[in-house]
Amino acid sequence: MTNLYQQLPSVDKLLKMPQGEQLVAQFGHSACVAICRELLQIGRDLIKNQQKLPHFFSSTELTFAELNSRLQIQQQVQIKSVHNLTGTVLHTNLGRALWPQSAQQAALSAMQDNVALEYDLEEGKRSHRDNYISELLCRLTGAEAACIVNNNAAAVLLMLATFAKDREVIISRGELIEIGGAFRIPDIMAQAGCHLVEVGTTNRTHLKDYQRAINENTAFLMKVHSSNYQICGFTAAVNEDELAILGKENGIPVISDLGSGALIDLRQYGLPYEPTVQEKILQGVDLVSFSGDKLLGGVQAGIIVGKKALIDQLQAHPLKRVLRCDKVILAGLEATLRLYLQPEKLSEKLTTLHLLTQPIEQLQQYATQLKISLEKRLSSDFSLQLEESLAQIGSGSQPMAKIPSIAVTIAPKNSGKLTALLAQFKGLPKPIIGRIEQDKIWLDLRSVANMEDLLTTVEKL
Ligand SMILES: *Cc1c(COP(=O)(O)O)cnc(C)c1O
Repeated sequence: MTNLYQQLPSVDKLLKMPQGEQLVAQFGHSACVAICRELLQIGRDLIKNQQKLPHFFSSTELTFAELNSRLQIQQQVQIKSVHNLTGTVLHTNLGRALWPQSAQQAALSAMQDNVALEYDLEEGKRSHRDNYISELLCRLTGAEAACIVNNNAAAVLLMLATFAKDREVIISRGELIEIGGAFRIPDIMAQAGCHLVEVGTTNRTHLKDYQRAINENTAFLMKVHSSNYQICGFTAAVNEDELAILGKENGIPVISDLGSGALIDLRQYGLPYEPTVQEKILQGVDLVSFSGDKLLGGVQAGIIVGKKALIDQLQAHPLKRVLRCDKVILAGLEATLRLYLQPEKLSEKLTTLHLLTQPIEQLQQYATQLKISLEKRLSSDFSLQLEESLAQIGSGSQPMAKIPSIAVTIAPKNSGKLTALLAQFKGLPKPIIGRIEQDKIWLDLRSVANMEDLLTTVEKL
Protein backbone atom coordinates (compact mmCIF):
# COMPACT_ATOMS: atom_id res chain seq x y z
CA MET A 1 0.00 0.00 0.00
CA THR A 2 2.76 2.43 0.88
CA ASN A 3 4.11 1.47 -2.46
CA LEU A 4 0.94 2.65 -4.15
CA TYR A 5 1.15 6.04 -2.43
CA GLN A 6 4.69 6.36 -3.74
CA GLN A 7 3.42 5.89 -7.27
CA LEU A 8 1.38 9.11 -7.04
CA PRO A 9 3.25 11.96 -8.78
CA SER A 10 3.76 15.30 -7.03
CA VAL A 11 1.99 18.44 -8.28
CA ASP A 12 5.34 20.00 -8.92
CA LYS A 13 6.59 17.11 -10.98
CA LEU A 14 3.41 17.00 -13.09
CA LEU A 15 3.46 20.71 -13.90
CA LYS A 16 7.17 20.69 -14.79
CA MET A 17 6.66 18.05 -17.47
CA PRO A 18 6.20 19.43 -21.02
CA GLN A 19 2.49 18.45 -20.98
CA GLY A 20 2.16 20.18 -17.63
CA GLU A 21 3.77 23.36 -18.94
CA GLN A 22 1.33 23.29 -21.84
CA LEU A 23 -1.62 23.06 -19.45
CA VAL A 24 -0.29 25.98 -17.40
CA ALA A 25 0.10 28.04 -20.58
CA GLN A 26 -3.50 27.30 -21.51
CA PHE A 27 -5.34 27.48 -18.17
CA GLY A 28 -2.97 29.33 -15.83
CA HIS A 29 -0.98 28.12 -12.84
CA SER A 30 -3.52 28.24 -10.02
CA ALA A 31 -6.29 26.30 -11.80
CA CYS A 32 -3.75 23.62 -12.82
CA VAL A 33 -2.45 23.25 -9.28
CA ALA A 34 -6.00 22.96 -7.93
CA ILE A 35 -6.98 20.29 -10.46
CA CYS A 36 -3.76 18.30 -9.82
CA ARG A 37 -4.53 18.35 -6.09
CA GLU A 38 -8.09 17.21 -6.82
CA LEU A 39 -6.79 14.18 -8.78
CA LEU A 40 -4.21 13.33 -6.14
CA GLN A 41 -6.86 13.43 -3.43
CA ILE A 42 -9.03 11.05 -5.45
CA GLY A 43 -5.95 8.84 -5.80
CA ARG A 44 -5.20 8.84 -2.06
CA ASP A 45 -8.84 8.10 -1.19
CA LEU A 46 -8.97 5.15 -3.58
CA ILE A 47 -5.72 3.71 -2.26
CA LYS A 48 -6.99 4.07 1.28
CA ASN A 49 -10.41 2.54 0.63
CA GLN A 50 -9.75 0.02 -2.11
CA GLN A 51 -5.97 -0.40 -2.15
CA LYS A 52 -5.68 0.54 -5.82
CA LEU A 53 -4.67 3.40 -8.10
CA PRO A 54 -7.30 5.19 -10.21
CA HIS A 55 -7.04 4.34 -13.91
CA PHE A 56 -5.86 7.87 -14.75
CA PHE A 57 -2.66 7.35 -12.81
CA SER A 58 -1.73 4.25 -14.79
CA SER A 59 0.12 6.33 -17.41
CA THR A 60 1.31 9.92 -17.90
CA GLU A 61 -0.86 10.23 -21.03
CA LEU A 62 -3.98 9.23 -19.09
CA THR A 63 -3.15 11.59 -16.23
CA PHE A 64 -2.80 14.57 -18.56
CA ALA A 65 -5.88 13.60 -20.52
CA GLU A 66 -7.84 13.61 -17.24
CA LEU A 67 -6.38 16.94 -16.13
CA ASN A 68 -7.13 18.50 -19.49
CA SER A 69 -10.68 17.25 -19.55
CA ARG A 70 -11.37 18.50 -16.01
CA LEU A 71 -9.96 21.93 -16.87
CA GLN A 72 -12.13 22.12 -20.00
CA ILE A 73 -15.28 21.09 -18.11
CA GLN A 74 -14.56 23.79 -15.53
CA GLN A 75 -15.26 26.37 -18.23
CA GLN A 76 -18.50 24.82 -19.46
CA VAL A 77 -21.54 26.84 -18.47
CA GLN A 78 -23.97 24.70 -16.53
CA ILE A 79 -26.97 26.81 -17.42
CA LYS A 80 -27.32 24.74 -20.57
CA SER A 81 -29.50 25.27 -23.61
CA VAL A 82 -32.26 22.68 -23.88
CA HIS A 83 -34.97 21.82 -26.40
CA ASN A 84 -38.36 22.59 -24.90
CA LEU A 85 -40.77 19.87 -26.01
CA THR A 86 -42.94 20.10 -22.91
CA GLY A 87 -45.73 21.86 -24.81
CA THR A 88 -45.59 24.70 -22.28
CA VAL A 89 -44.45 27.69 -24.30
CA LEU A 90 -43.60 29.97 -21.35
CA HIS A 91 -42.01 27.38 -19.05
CA THR A 92 -40.74 29.11 -15.90
CA ASN A 93 -38.31 26.27 -15.08
CA LEU A 94 -36.91 26.53 -18.60
CA GLY A 95 -36.48 30.29 -18.54
CA ARG A 96 -39.82 31.57 -19.90
CA ALA A 97 -39.94 33.71 -23.06
CA LEU A 98 -37.29 33.45 -25.76
CA TRP A 99 -35.99 36.84 -26.75
CA PRO A 100 -37.01 38.11 -30.18
CA GLN A 101 -34.13 38.54 -32.63
CA SER A 102 -34.13 42.32 -32.39
CA ALA A 103 -33.97 42.15 -28.59
CA GLN A 104 -30.98 39.82 -28.78
CA GLN A 105 -29.18 42.26 -31.06
CA ALA A 106 -29.98 45.26 -28.88
CA ALA A 107 -28.78 43.37 -25.80
CA LEU A 108 -25.58 42.30 -27.50
CA SER A 109 -24.73 45.89 -28.46
CA ALA A 110 -25.48 47.02 -24.93
CA MET A 111 -23.18 44.32 -23.58
CA GLN A 112 -20.27 45.22 -25.82
CA ASP A 113 -20.54 49.00 -25.80
CA ASN A 114 -21.12 51.86 -23.49
CA VAL A 115 -24.66 53.09 -24.07
CA ALA A 116 -26.52 56.35 -23.50
CA LEU A 117 -28.33 54.81 -20.57
CA GLU A 118 -28.73 57.81 -18.33
CA TYR A 119 -27.47 60.38 -20.80
CA ASP A 120 -29.61 62.57 -23.03
CA LEU A 121 -27.78 62.76 -26.37
CA GLU A 122 -29.73 65.82 -27.56
CA GLU A 123 -29.33 67.89 -24.44
CA GLY A 124 -25.95 66.44 -23.54
CA LYS A 125 -26.93 66.01 -19.92
CA ARG A 126 -28.00 63.37 -17.45
CA SER A 127 -31.32 61.63 -17.97
CA HIS A 128 -33.18 58.68 -16.47
CA ARG A 129 -32.60 55.04 -17.44
CA ASP A 130 -36.32 54.24 -17.75
CA ASN A 131 -37.01 57.22 -20.09
CA TYR A 132 -36.93 55.56 -23.52
CA ILE A 133 -39.03 52.64 -22.41
CA SER A 134 -41.40 54.83 -20.47
CA GLU A 135 -42.22 56.82 -23.61
CA LEU A 136 -42.83 53.63 -25.57
CA LEU A 137 -45.01 52.12 -22.87
CA CYS A 138 -47.12 55.26 -22.64
CA ARG A 139 -47.67 55.17 -26.37
CA LEU A 140 -48.59 51.46 -26.28
CA THR A 141 -50.77 51.42 -23.16
CA GLY A 142 -52.21 54.93 -22.86
CA ALA A 143 -50.60 55.33 -19.44
CA GLU A 144 -48.95 58.58 -18.29
CA ALA A 145 -45.64 57.13 -17.09
CA ALA A 146 -43.77 53.89 -16.40
CA CYS A 147 -41.23 52.38 -14.05
CA ILE A 148 -39.11 49.29 -14.77
CA VAL A 149 -37.75 46.87 -12.15
CA ASN A 150 -36.32 43.36 -11.98
CA ASN A 151 -39.51 41.33 -12.20
CA ASN A 152 -43.18 41.62 -11.43
CA ALA A 153 -42.71 40.41 -7.86
CA ALA A 154 -40.37 43.37 -7.37
CA ALA A 155 -42.92 45.67 -9.01
CA VAL A 156 -45.60 44.63 -6.51
CA LEU A 157 -43.18 45.03 -3.61
CA LEU A 158 -42.16 48.51 -4.76
CA MET A 159 -45.77 49.70 -5.13
CA LEU A 160 -46.68 48.44 -1.67
CA ALA A 161 -43.52 49.68 0.05
CA THR A 162 -43.81 53.14 -1.48
CA PHE A 163 -47.44 53.84 -0.69
CA ALA A 164 -48.69 51.35 1.86
CA LYS A 165 -46.04 51.01 4.56
CA ASP A 166 -47.83 50.92 7.93
CA ARG A 167 -51.12 51.33 6.09
CA GLU A 168 -53.90 49.06 4.87
CA VAL A 169 -54.40 47.42 1.49
CA ILE A 170 -57.84 46.03 0.70
CA ILE A 171 -57.96 42.89 -1.41
CA SER A 172 -60.53 40.18 -2.13
CA ARG A 173 -60.13 36.80 -0.40
CA GLY A 174 -60.44 35.21 -3.83
CA GLU A 175 -57.25 36.94 -5.00
CA LEU A 176 -54.73 36.07 -2.28
CA ILE A 177 -52.62 34.11 -4.70
CA GLU A 178 -49.49 32.09 -4.43
CA ILE A 179 -47.49 31.64 -7.59
CA GLY A 180 -44.39 29.50 -8.11
CA GLY A 181 -41.18 30.32 -6.31
CA ALA A 182 -42.81 31.40 -3.03
CA PHE A 183 -44.46 34.58 -4.24
CA ARG A 184 -47.48 34.94 -1.97
CA ILE A 185 -49.47 38.13 -1.80
CA PRO A 186 -49.79 38.08 2.03
CA ASP A 187 -46.03 37.55 2.41
CA ILE A 188 -45.16 40.36 0.00
CA MET A 189 -47.50 42.64 1.92
CA ALA A 190 -45.75 41.73 5.17
CA GLN A 191 -42.35 42.39 3.57
CA ALA A 192 -43.52 45.80 2.44
CA GLY A 193 -44.72 46.53 5.97
CA CYS A 194 -48.37 46.91 5.07
CA HIS A 195 -51.53 45.49 6.56
CA LEU A 196 -53.57 43.15 4.47
CA VAL A 197 -57.30 43.68 4.75
CA GLU A 198 -59.12 40.71 3.26
CA VAL A 199 -62.66 41.28 2.08
CA GLY A 200 -65.43 39.09 0.66
CA THR A 201 -65.13 35.32 0.51
CA THR A 202 -63.10 32.87 -1.53
CA ASN A 203 -65.74 32.64 -4.25
CA ARG A 204 -67.69 35.92 -3.99
CA THR A 205 -66.64 39.49 -3.32
CA HIS A 206 -68.89 42.51 -3.82
CA LEU A 207 -68.30 46.26 -4.14
CA LYS A 208 -69.90 46.81 -0.73
CA ASP A 209 -67.22 44.56 0.81
CA TYR A 210 -64.50 46.95 -0.35
CA GLN A 211 -66.64 49.95 0.58
CA ARG A 212 -67.08 48.83 4.18
CA ALA A 213 -63.35 48.19 4.66
CA ILE A 214 -62.26 51.68 3.59
CA ASN A 215 -60.99 53.92 6.37
CA GLU A 216 -58.56 56.83 6.78
CA ASN A 217 -55.62 54.41 6.83
CA THR A 218 -56.42 52.70 3.51
CA ALA A 219 -53.53 53.03 1.05
CA PHE A 220 -54.82 51.00 -1.89
CA LEU A 221 -57.67 49.00 -3.30
CA MET A 222 -55.81 46.12 -4.91
CA LYS A 223 -56.73 43.65 -7.64
CA VAL A 224 -54.58 40.61 -8.37
CA HIS A 225 -55.11 38.62 -11.53
CA SER A 226 -55.73 35.00 -10.53
CA SER A 227 -53.15 33.86 -13.05
CA ASN A 228 -52.67 30.23 -12.19
CA TYR A 229 -56.09 29.10 -10.99
CA GLN A 230 -59.76 29.67 -11.69
CA ILE A 231 -62.71 29.88 -9.40
CA CYS A 232 -65.77 28.47 -11.12
CA GLY A 233 -69.42 28.07 -10.25
CA PHE A 234 -71.20 30.48 -7.86
CA THR A 235 -68.77 33.37 -8.10
CA ALA A 236 -68.66 37.15 -8.06
CA ALA A 237 -65.79 39.57 -8.33
CA VAL A 238 -65.59 43.34 -8.63
CA ASN A 239 -64.09 44.61 -11.86
CA GLU A 240 -61.43 47.27 -12.02
CA ASP A 241 -63.79 49.85 -13.53
CA GLU A 242 -66.20 49.67 -10.58
CA LEU A 243 -63.30 49.66 -8.15
CA ALA A 244 -61.79 52.70 -9.88
CA ILE A 245 -64.99 54.67 -9.33
CA LEU A 246 -65.06 53.68 -5.66
CA GLY A 247 -61.40 54.61 -5.34
CA LYS A 248 -61.97 58.06 -6.89
CA GLU A 249 -64.91 58.75 -4.61
CA ASN A 250 -62.70 58.08 -1.63
CA GLY A 251 -59.43 59.47 -2.95
CA ILE A 252 -57.76 56.04 -2.79
CA PRO A 253 -55.66 54.71 -5.69
CA VAL A 254 -56.55 51.37 -7.28
CA ILE A 255 -53.67 49.10 -8.26
CA SER A 256 -53.76 45.92 -10.32
CA ASP A 257 -51.18 43.13 -10.43
CA LEU A 258 -51.93 41.73 -13.87
CA GLY A 259 -49.29 38.99 -13.84
CA SER A 260 -48.82 38.14 -17.48
CA GLY A 261 -50.35 41.31 -18.81
CA ALA A 262 -50.85 41.12 -22.53
CA LEU A 263 -50.33 44.23 -24.66
CA ILE A 264 -52.60 42.92 -27.43
CA ASP A 265 -55.94 41.14 -27.54
CA LEU A 266 -54.92 37.52 -28.02
CA ARG A 267 -58.39 36.54 -29.28
CA GLN A 268 -57.50 37.96 -32.71
CA TYR A 269 -55.12 34.97 -33.02
CA GLY A 270 -57.69 32.46 -31.80
CA LEU A 271 -56.00 32.33 -28.39
CA PRO A 272 -57.83 32.60 -25.07
CA TYR A 273 -58.66 36.04 -23.73
CA GLU A 274 -56.14 37.55 -21.35
CA PRO A 275 -56.81 41.02 -19.89
CA THR A 276 -54.68 43.71 -21.52
CA VAL A 277 -52.78 46.51 -19.84
CA GLN A 278 -54.56 49.11 -22.02
CA GLU A 279 -57.95 47.89 -20.79
CA LYS A 280 -56.93 48.35 -17.18
CA ILE A 281 -55.68 51.88 -17.85
CA LEU A 282 -58.94 52.69 -19.65
CA GLN A 283 -60.89 51.29 -16.71
CA GLY A 284 -59.21 53.88 -14.53
CA VAL A 285 -56.68 51.79 -12.62
CA ASP A 286 -53.98 54.05 -11.16
CA LEU A 287 -51.05 51.60 -11.32
CA VAL A 288 -50.83 48.35 -13.31
CA SER A 289 -47.93 45.91 -12.92
CA PHE A 290 -46.96 43.01 -15.17
CA SER A 291 -44.04 40.79 -16.22
CA GLY A 292 -41.74 41.32 -19.19
CA ASP A 293 -41.07 37.65 -19.85
CA LYS A 294 -44.55 36.17 -19.79
CA LEU A 295 -47.05 36.94 -22.56
CA LEU A 296 -45.24 40.14 -23.43
CA GLY A 297 -42.64 37.80 -24.88
CA GLY A 298 -39.52 39.66 -23.81
CA VAL A 299 -36.98 39.88 -21.03
CA GLN A 300 -37.29 39.29 -17.29
CA ALA A 301 -38.54 42.58 -15.96
CA GLY A 302 -41.35 44.02 -13.91
CA ILE A 303 -43.23 46.87 -15.52
CA ILE A 304 -45.42 49.38 -13.71
CA VAL A 305 -47.49 51.83 -15.75
CA GLY A 306 -50.01 54.42 -14.62
CA LYS A 307 -50.46 57.91 -13.22
CA LYS A 308 -47.39 60.11 -13.45
CA ALA A 309 -47.68 61.52 -9.94
CA LEU A 310 -47.59 58.00 -8.51
CA ILE A 311 -44.85 56.72 -10.83
CA ASP A 312 -42.68 59.71 -9.85
CA GLN A 313 -42.93 58.59 -6.24
CA LEU A 314 -42.00 55.01 -7.15
CA GLN A 315 -38.96 56.31 -9.03
CA ALA A 316 -37.92 58.33 -5.99
CA HIS A 317 -38.15 55.47 -3.48
CA PRO A 318 -34.78 54.00 -2.34
CA LEU A 319 -36.00 50.47 -3.19
CA LYS A 320 -36.20 51.48 -6.87
CA ARG A 321 -32.42 51.79 -6.85
CA VAL A 322 -32.19 48.29 -5.42
CA LEU A 323 -34.57 46.82 -7.96
CA ARG A 324 -33.53 48.69 -11.11
CA CYS A 325 -32.63 46.86 -14.34
CA ASP A 326 -29.29 46.90 -16.08
CA LYS A 327 -28.53 48.24 -19.57
CA VAL A 328 -28.74 44.82 -21.24
CA ILE A 329 -32.22 44.10 -19.93
CA LEU A 330 -33.43 47.60 -20.73
CA ALA A 331 -32.09 47.35 -24.29
CA GLY A 332 -33.79 43.96 -24.74
CA LEU A 333 -37.04 45.27 -23.33
CA GLU A 334 -37.00 48.37 -25.51
CA ALA A 335 -36.43 46.30 -28.65
CA THR A 336 -39.23 43.90 -27.68
CA LEU A 337 -41.67 46.74 -27.05
CA ARG A 338 -40.78 48.37 -30.38
CA LEU A 339 -42.15 45.28 -32.13
CA TYR A 340 -45.58 46.17 -30.73
CA LEU A 341 -45.54 49.40 -32.77
CA GLN A 342 -46.00 47.19 -35.87
CA PRO A 343 -48.75 44.83 -34.71
CA GLU A 344 -49.29 43.11 -38.08
CA LYS A 345 -45.74 41.76 -37.96
CA LEU A 346 -45.91 40.70 -34.34
CA SER A 347 -46.79 37.02 -34.81
CA GLU A 348 -43.81 36.74 -37.13
CA LYS A 349 -41.26 38.58 -34.99
CA LEU A 350 -42.25 38.02 -31.39
CA THR A 351 -41.02 34.47 -30.77
CA THR A 352 -43.57 33.67 -28.04
CA LEU A 353 -46.49 34.73 -30.20
CA HIS A 354 -45.01 32.95 -33.19
CA LEU A 355 -44.91 29.68 -31.23
CA LEU A 356 -48.41 30.15 -29.83
CA THR A 357 -49.89 30.85 -33.25
CA GLN A 358 -48.12 28.32 -35.46
CA PRO A 359 -50.76 26.53 -37.55
CA ILE A 360 -51.40 22.91 -36.65
CA GLU A 361 -50.44 21.81 -40.20
CA GLN A 362 -46.98 23.21 -39.62
CA LEU A 363 -46.65 21.33 -36.33
CA GLN A 364 -47.86 18.17 -38.06
CA GLN A 365 -45.08 18.52 -40.60
CA TYR A 366 -42.49 19.06 -37.87
CA ALA A 367 -43.81 16.09 -35.89
CA THR A 368 -43.52 13.84 -38.94
CA GLN A 369 -39.89 14.88 -39.45
CA LEU A 370 -39.12 14.31 -35.79
CA LYS A 371 -40.78 10.89 -35.75
CA ILE A 372 -38.86 9.71 -38.81
CA SER A 373 -35.59 10.91 -37.33
CA LEU A 374 -36.26 9.29 -33.94
CA GLU A 375 -37.33 5.98 -35.51
CA LYS A 376 -33.94 5.71 -37.21
CA ARG A 377 -32.22 5.84 -33.83
CA LEU A 378 -34.49 4.27 -31.24
CA SER A 379 -34.52 0.52 -30.78
CA SER A 380 -37.56 -1.61 -31.56
CA ASP A 381 -38.34 -1.56 -27.84
CA PHE A 382 -40.29 1.64 -28.41
CA SER A 383 -43.29 2.43 -30.54
CA LEU A 384 -43.68 5.96 -31.89
CA GLN A 385 -46.87 7.71 -32.87
CA LEU A 386 -48.15 11.14 -33.86
CA GLU A 387 -50.89 12.20 -31.48
CA GLU A 388 -53.02 15.27 -30.94
CA SER A 389 -51.80 17.06 -27.87
CA LEU A 390 -52.90 19.95 -25.70
CA ALA A 391 -50.23 22.57 -25.20
CA GLN A 392 -50.43 25.53 -22.85
CA ILE A 393 -49.23 29.11 -22.63
CA GLY A 394 -47.58 28.60 -19.23
CA SER A 395 -46.27 30.98 -16.56
CA GLY A 396 -49.67 31.18 -15.02
CA SER A 397 -51.43 32.48 -18.11
CA GLN A 398 -54.78 30.83 -18.65
CA PRO A 399 -54.11 27.59 -16.77
CA MET A 400 -57.31 25.99 -18.01
CA ALA A 401 -56.92 27.01 -21.64
CA LYS A 402 -55.39 24.33 -23.82
CA ILE A 403 -53.92 25.08 -27.21
CA PRO A 404 -54.20 22.43 -29.91
CA SER A 405 -50.88 20.83 -30.73
CA ILE A 406 -49.20 17.71 -32.09
CA ALA A 407 -46.79 15.45 -30.26
CA VAL A 408 -44.60 12.50 -31.08
CA THR A 409 -45.40 9.99 -28.35
CA ILE A 410 -43.05 7.19 -27.39
CA ALA A 411 -44.44 4.12 -25.66
CA PRO A 412 -42.30 1.29 -24.34
CA LYS A 413 -42.83 -2.26 -25.55
CA ASN A 414 -41.01 -5.50 -24.79
CA SER A 415 -38.23 -4.55 -22.41
CA GLY A 416 -38.11 -0.84 -23.31
CA LYS A 417 -37.73 1.49 -20.33
CA LEU A 418 -38.99 5.06 -20.49
CA THR A 419 -36.74 6.21 -17.66
CA ALA A 420 -33.66 5.01 -19.54
CA LEU A 421 -34.80 6.79 -22.69
CA LEU A 422 -35.56 9.99 -20.78
CA ALA A 423 -32.06 9.86 -19.29
CA GLN A 424 -30.69 9.46 -22.80
CA PHE A 425 -32.64 12.55 -23.94
CA LYS A 426 -31.36 14.51 -20.98
CA GLY A 427 -27.78 13.38 -21.60
CA LEU A 428 -27.66 14.90 -25.09
CA PRO A 429 -25.30 17.88 -25.65
CA LYS A 430 -28.48 19.96 -25.88
CA PRO A 431 -30.94 17.96 -23.77
CA ILE A 432 -34.46 17.26 -25.01
CA ILE A 433 -37.11 17.89 -22.37
CA GLY A 434 -40.52 16.31 -22.88
CA ARG A 435 -43.33 15.29 -20.53
CA ILE A 436 -44.59 11.92 -19.31
CA GLU A 437 -48.29 11.20 -19.49
CA GLN A 438 -50.20 7.92 -19.69
CA ASP A 439 -46.94 5.93 -19.54
CA LYS A 440 -45.66 7.60 -22.66
CA ILE A 441 -43.11 10.30 -23.40
CA TRP A 442 -44.81 13.22 -25.13
CA LEU A 443 -42.61 15.36 -27.33
CA ASP A 444 -44.86 18.33 -28.05
CA LEU A 445 -43.97 20.45 -31.08
CA ARG A 446 -45.85 23.61 -29.98
CA SER A 447 -42.99 24.86 -27.83
CA VAL A 448 -40.12 24.05 -30.22
CA ALA A 449 -38.30 27.20 -31.27
CA ASN A 450 -35.74 25.76 -33.66
CA MET A 451 -36.72 22.65 -35.59
CA GLU A 452 -33.48 22.34 -37.56
CA ASP A 453 -31.45 22.48 -34.37
CA LEU A 454 -33.70 19.83 -32.79
CA LEU A 455 -33.19 17.43 -35.71
CA THR A 456 -29.42 17.93 -35.50
CA THR A 457 -29.57 17.02 -31.81
CA VAL A 458 -31.64 13.91 -32.48
CA GLU A 459 -28.92 12.70 -34.84
CA LYS A 460 -26.62 12.50 -31.83
CA LEU A 461 -28.83 9.97 -30.01
C1 LIG B 1 -46.20 35.80 -12.47
C2 LIG B 1 -46.90 36.67 -11.53
C3 LIG B 1 -46.18 37.42 -10.59
C4 LIG B 1 -44.69 37.37 -10.50
O1 LIG B 1 -44.10 37.85 -11.65
P1 LIG B 1 -42.52 37.60 -11.89
O2 LIG B 1 -42.24 38.40 -13.13
O3 LIG B 1 -42.35 36.14 -12.05
O4 LIG B 1 -41.81 38.13 -10.70
C5 LIG B 1 -46.90 38.22 -9.74
N1 LIG B 1 -48.24 38.28 -9.79
C6 LIG B 1 -48.96 37.57 -10.67
C7 LIG B 1 -50.44 37.69 -10.69
C8 LIG B 1 -48.31 36.72 -11.57
O5 LIG B 1 -49.01 36.01 -12.45
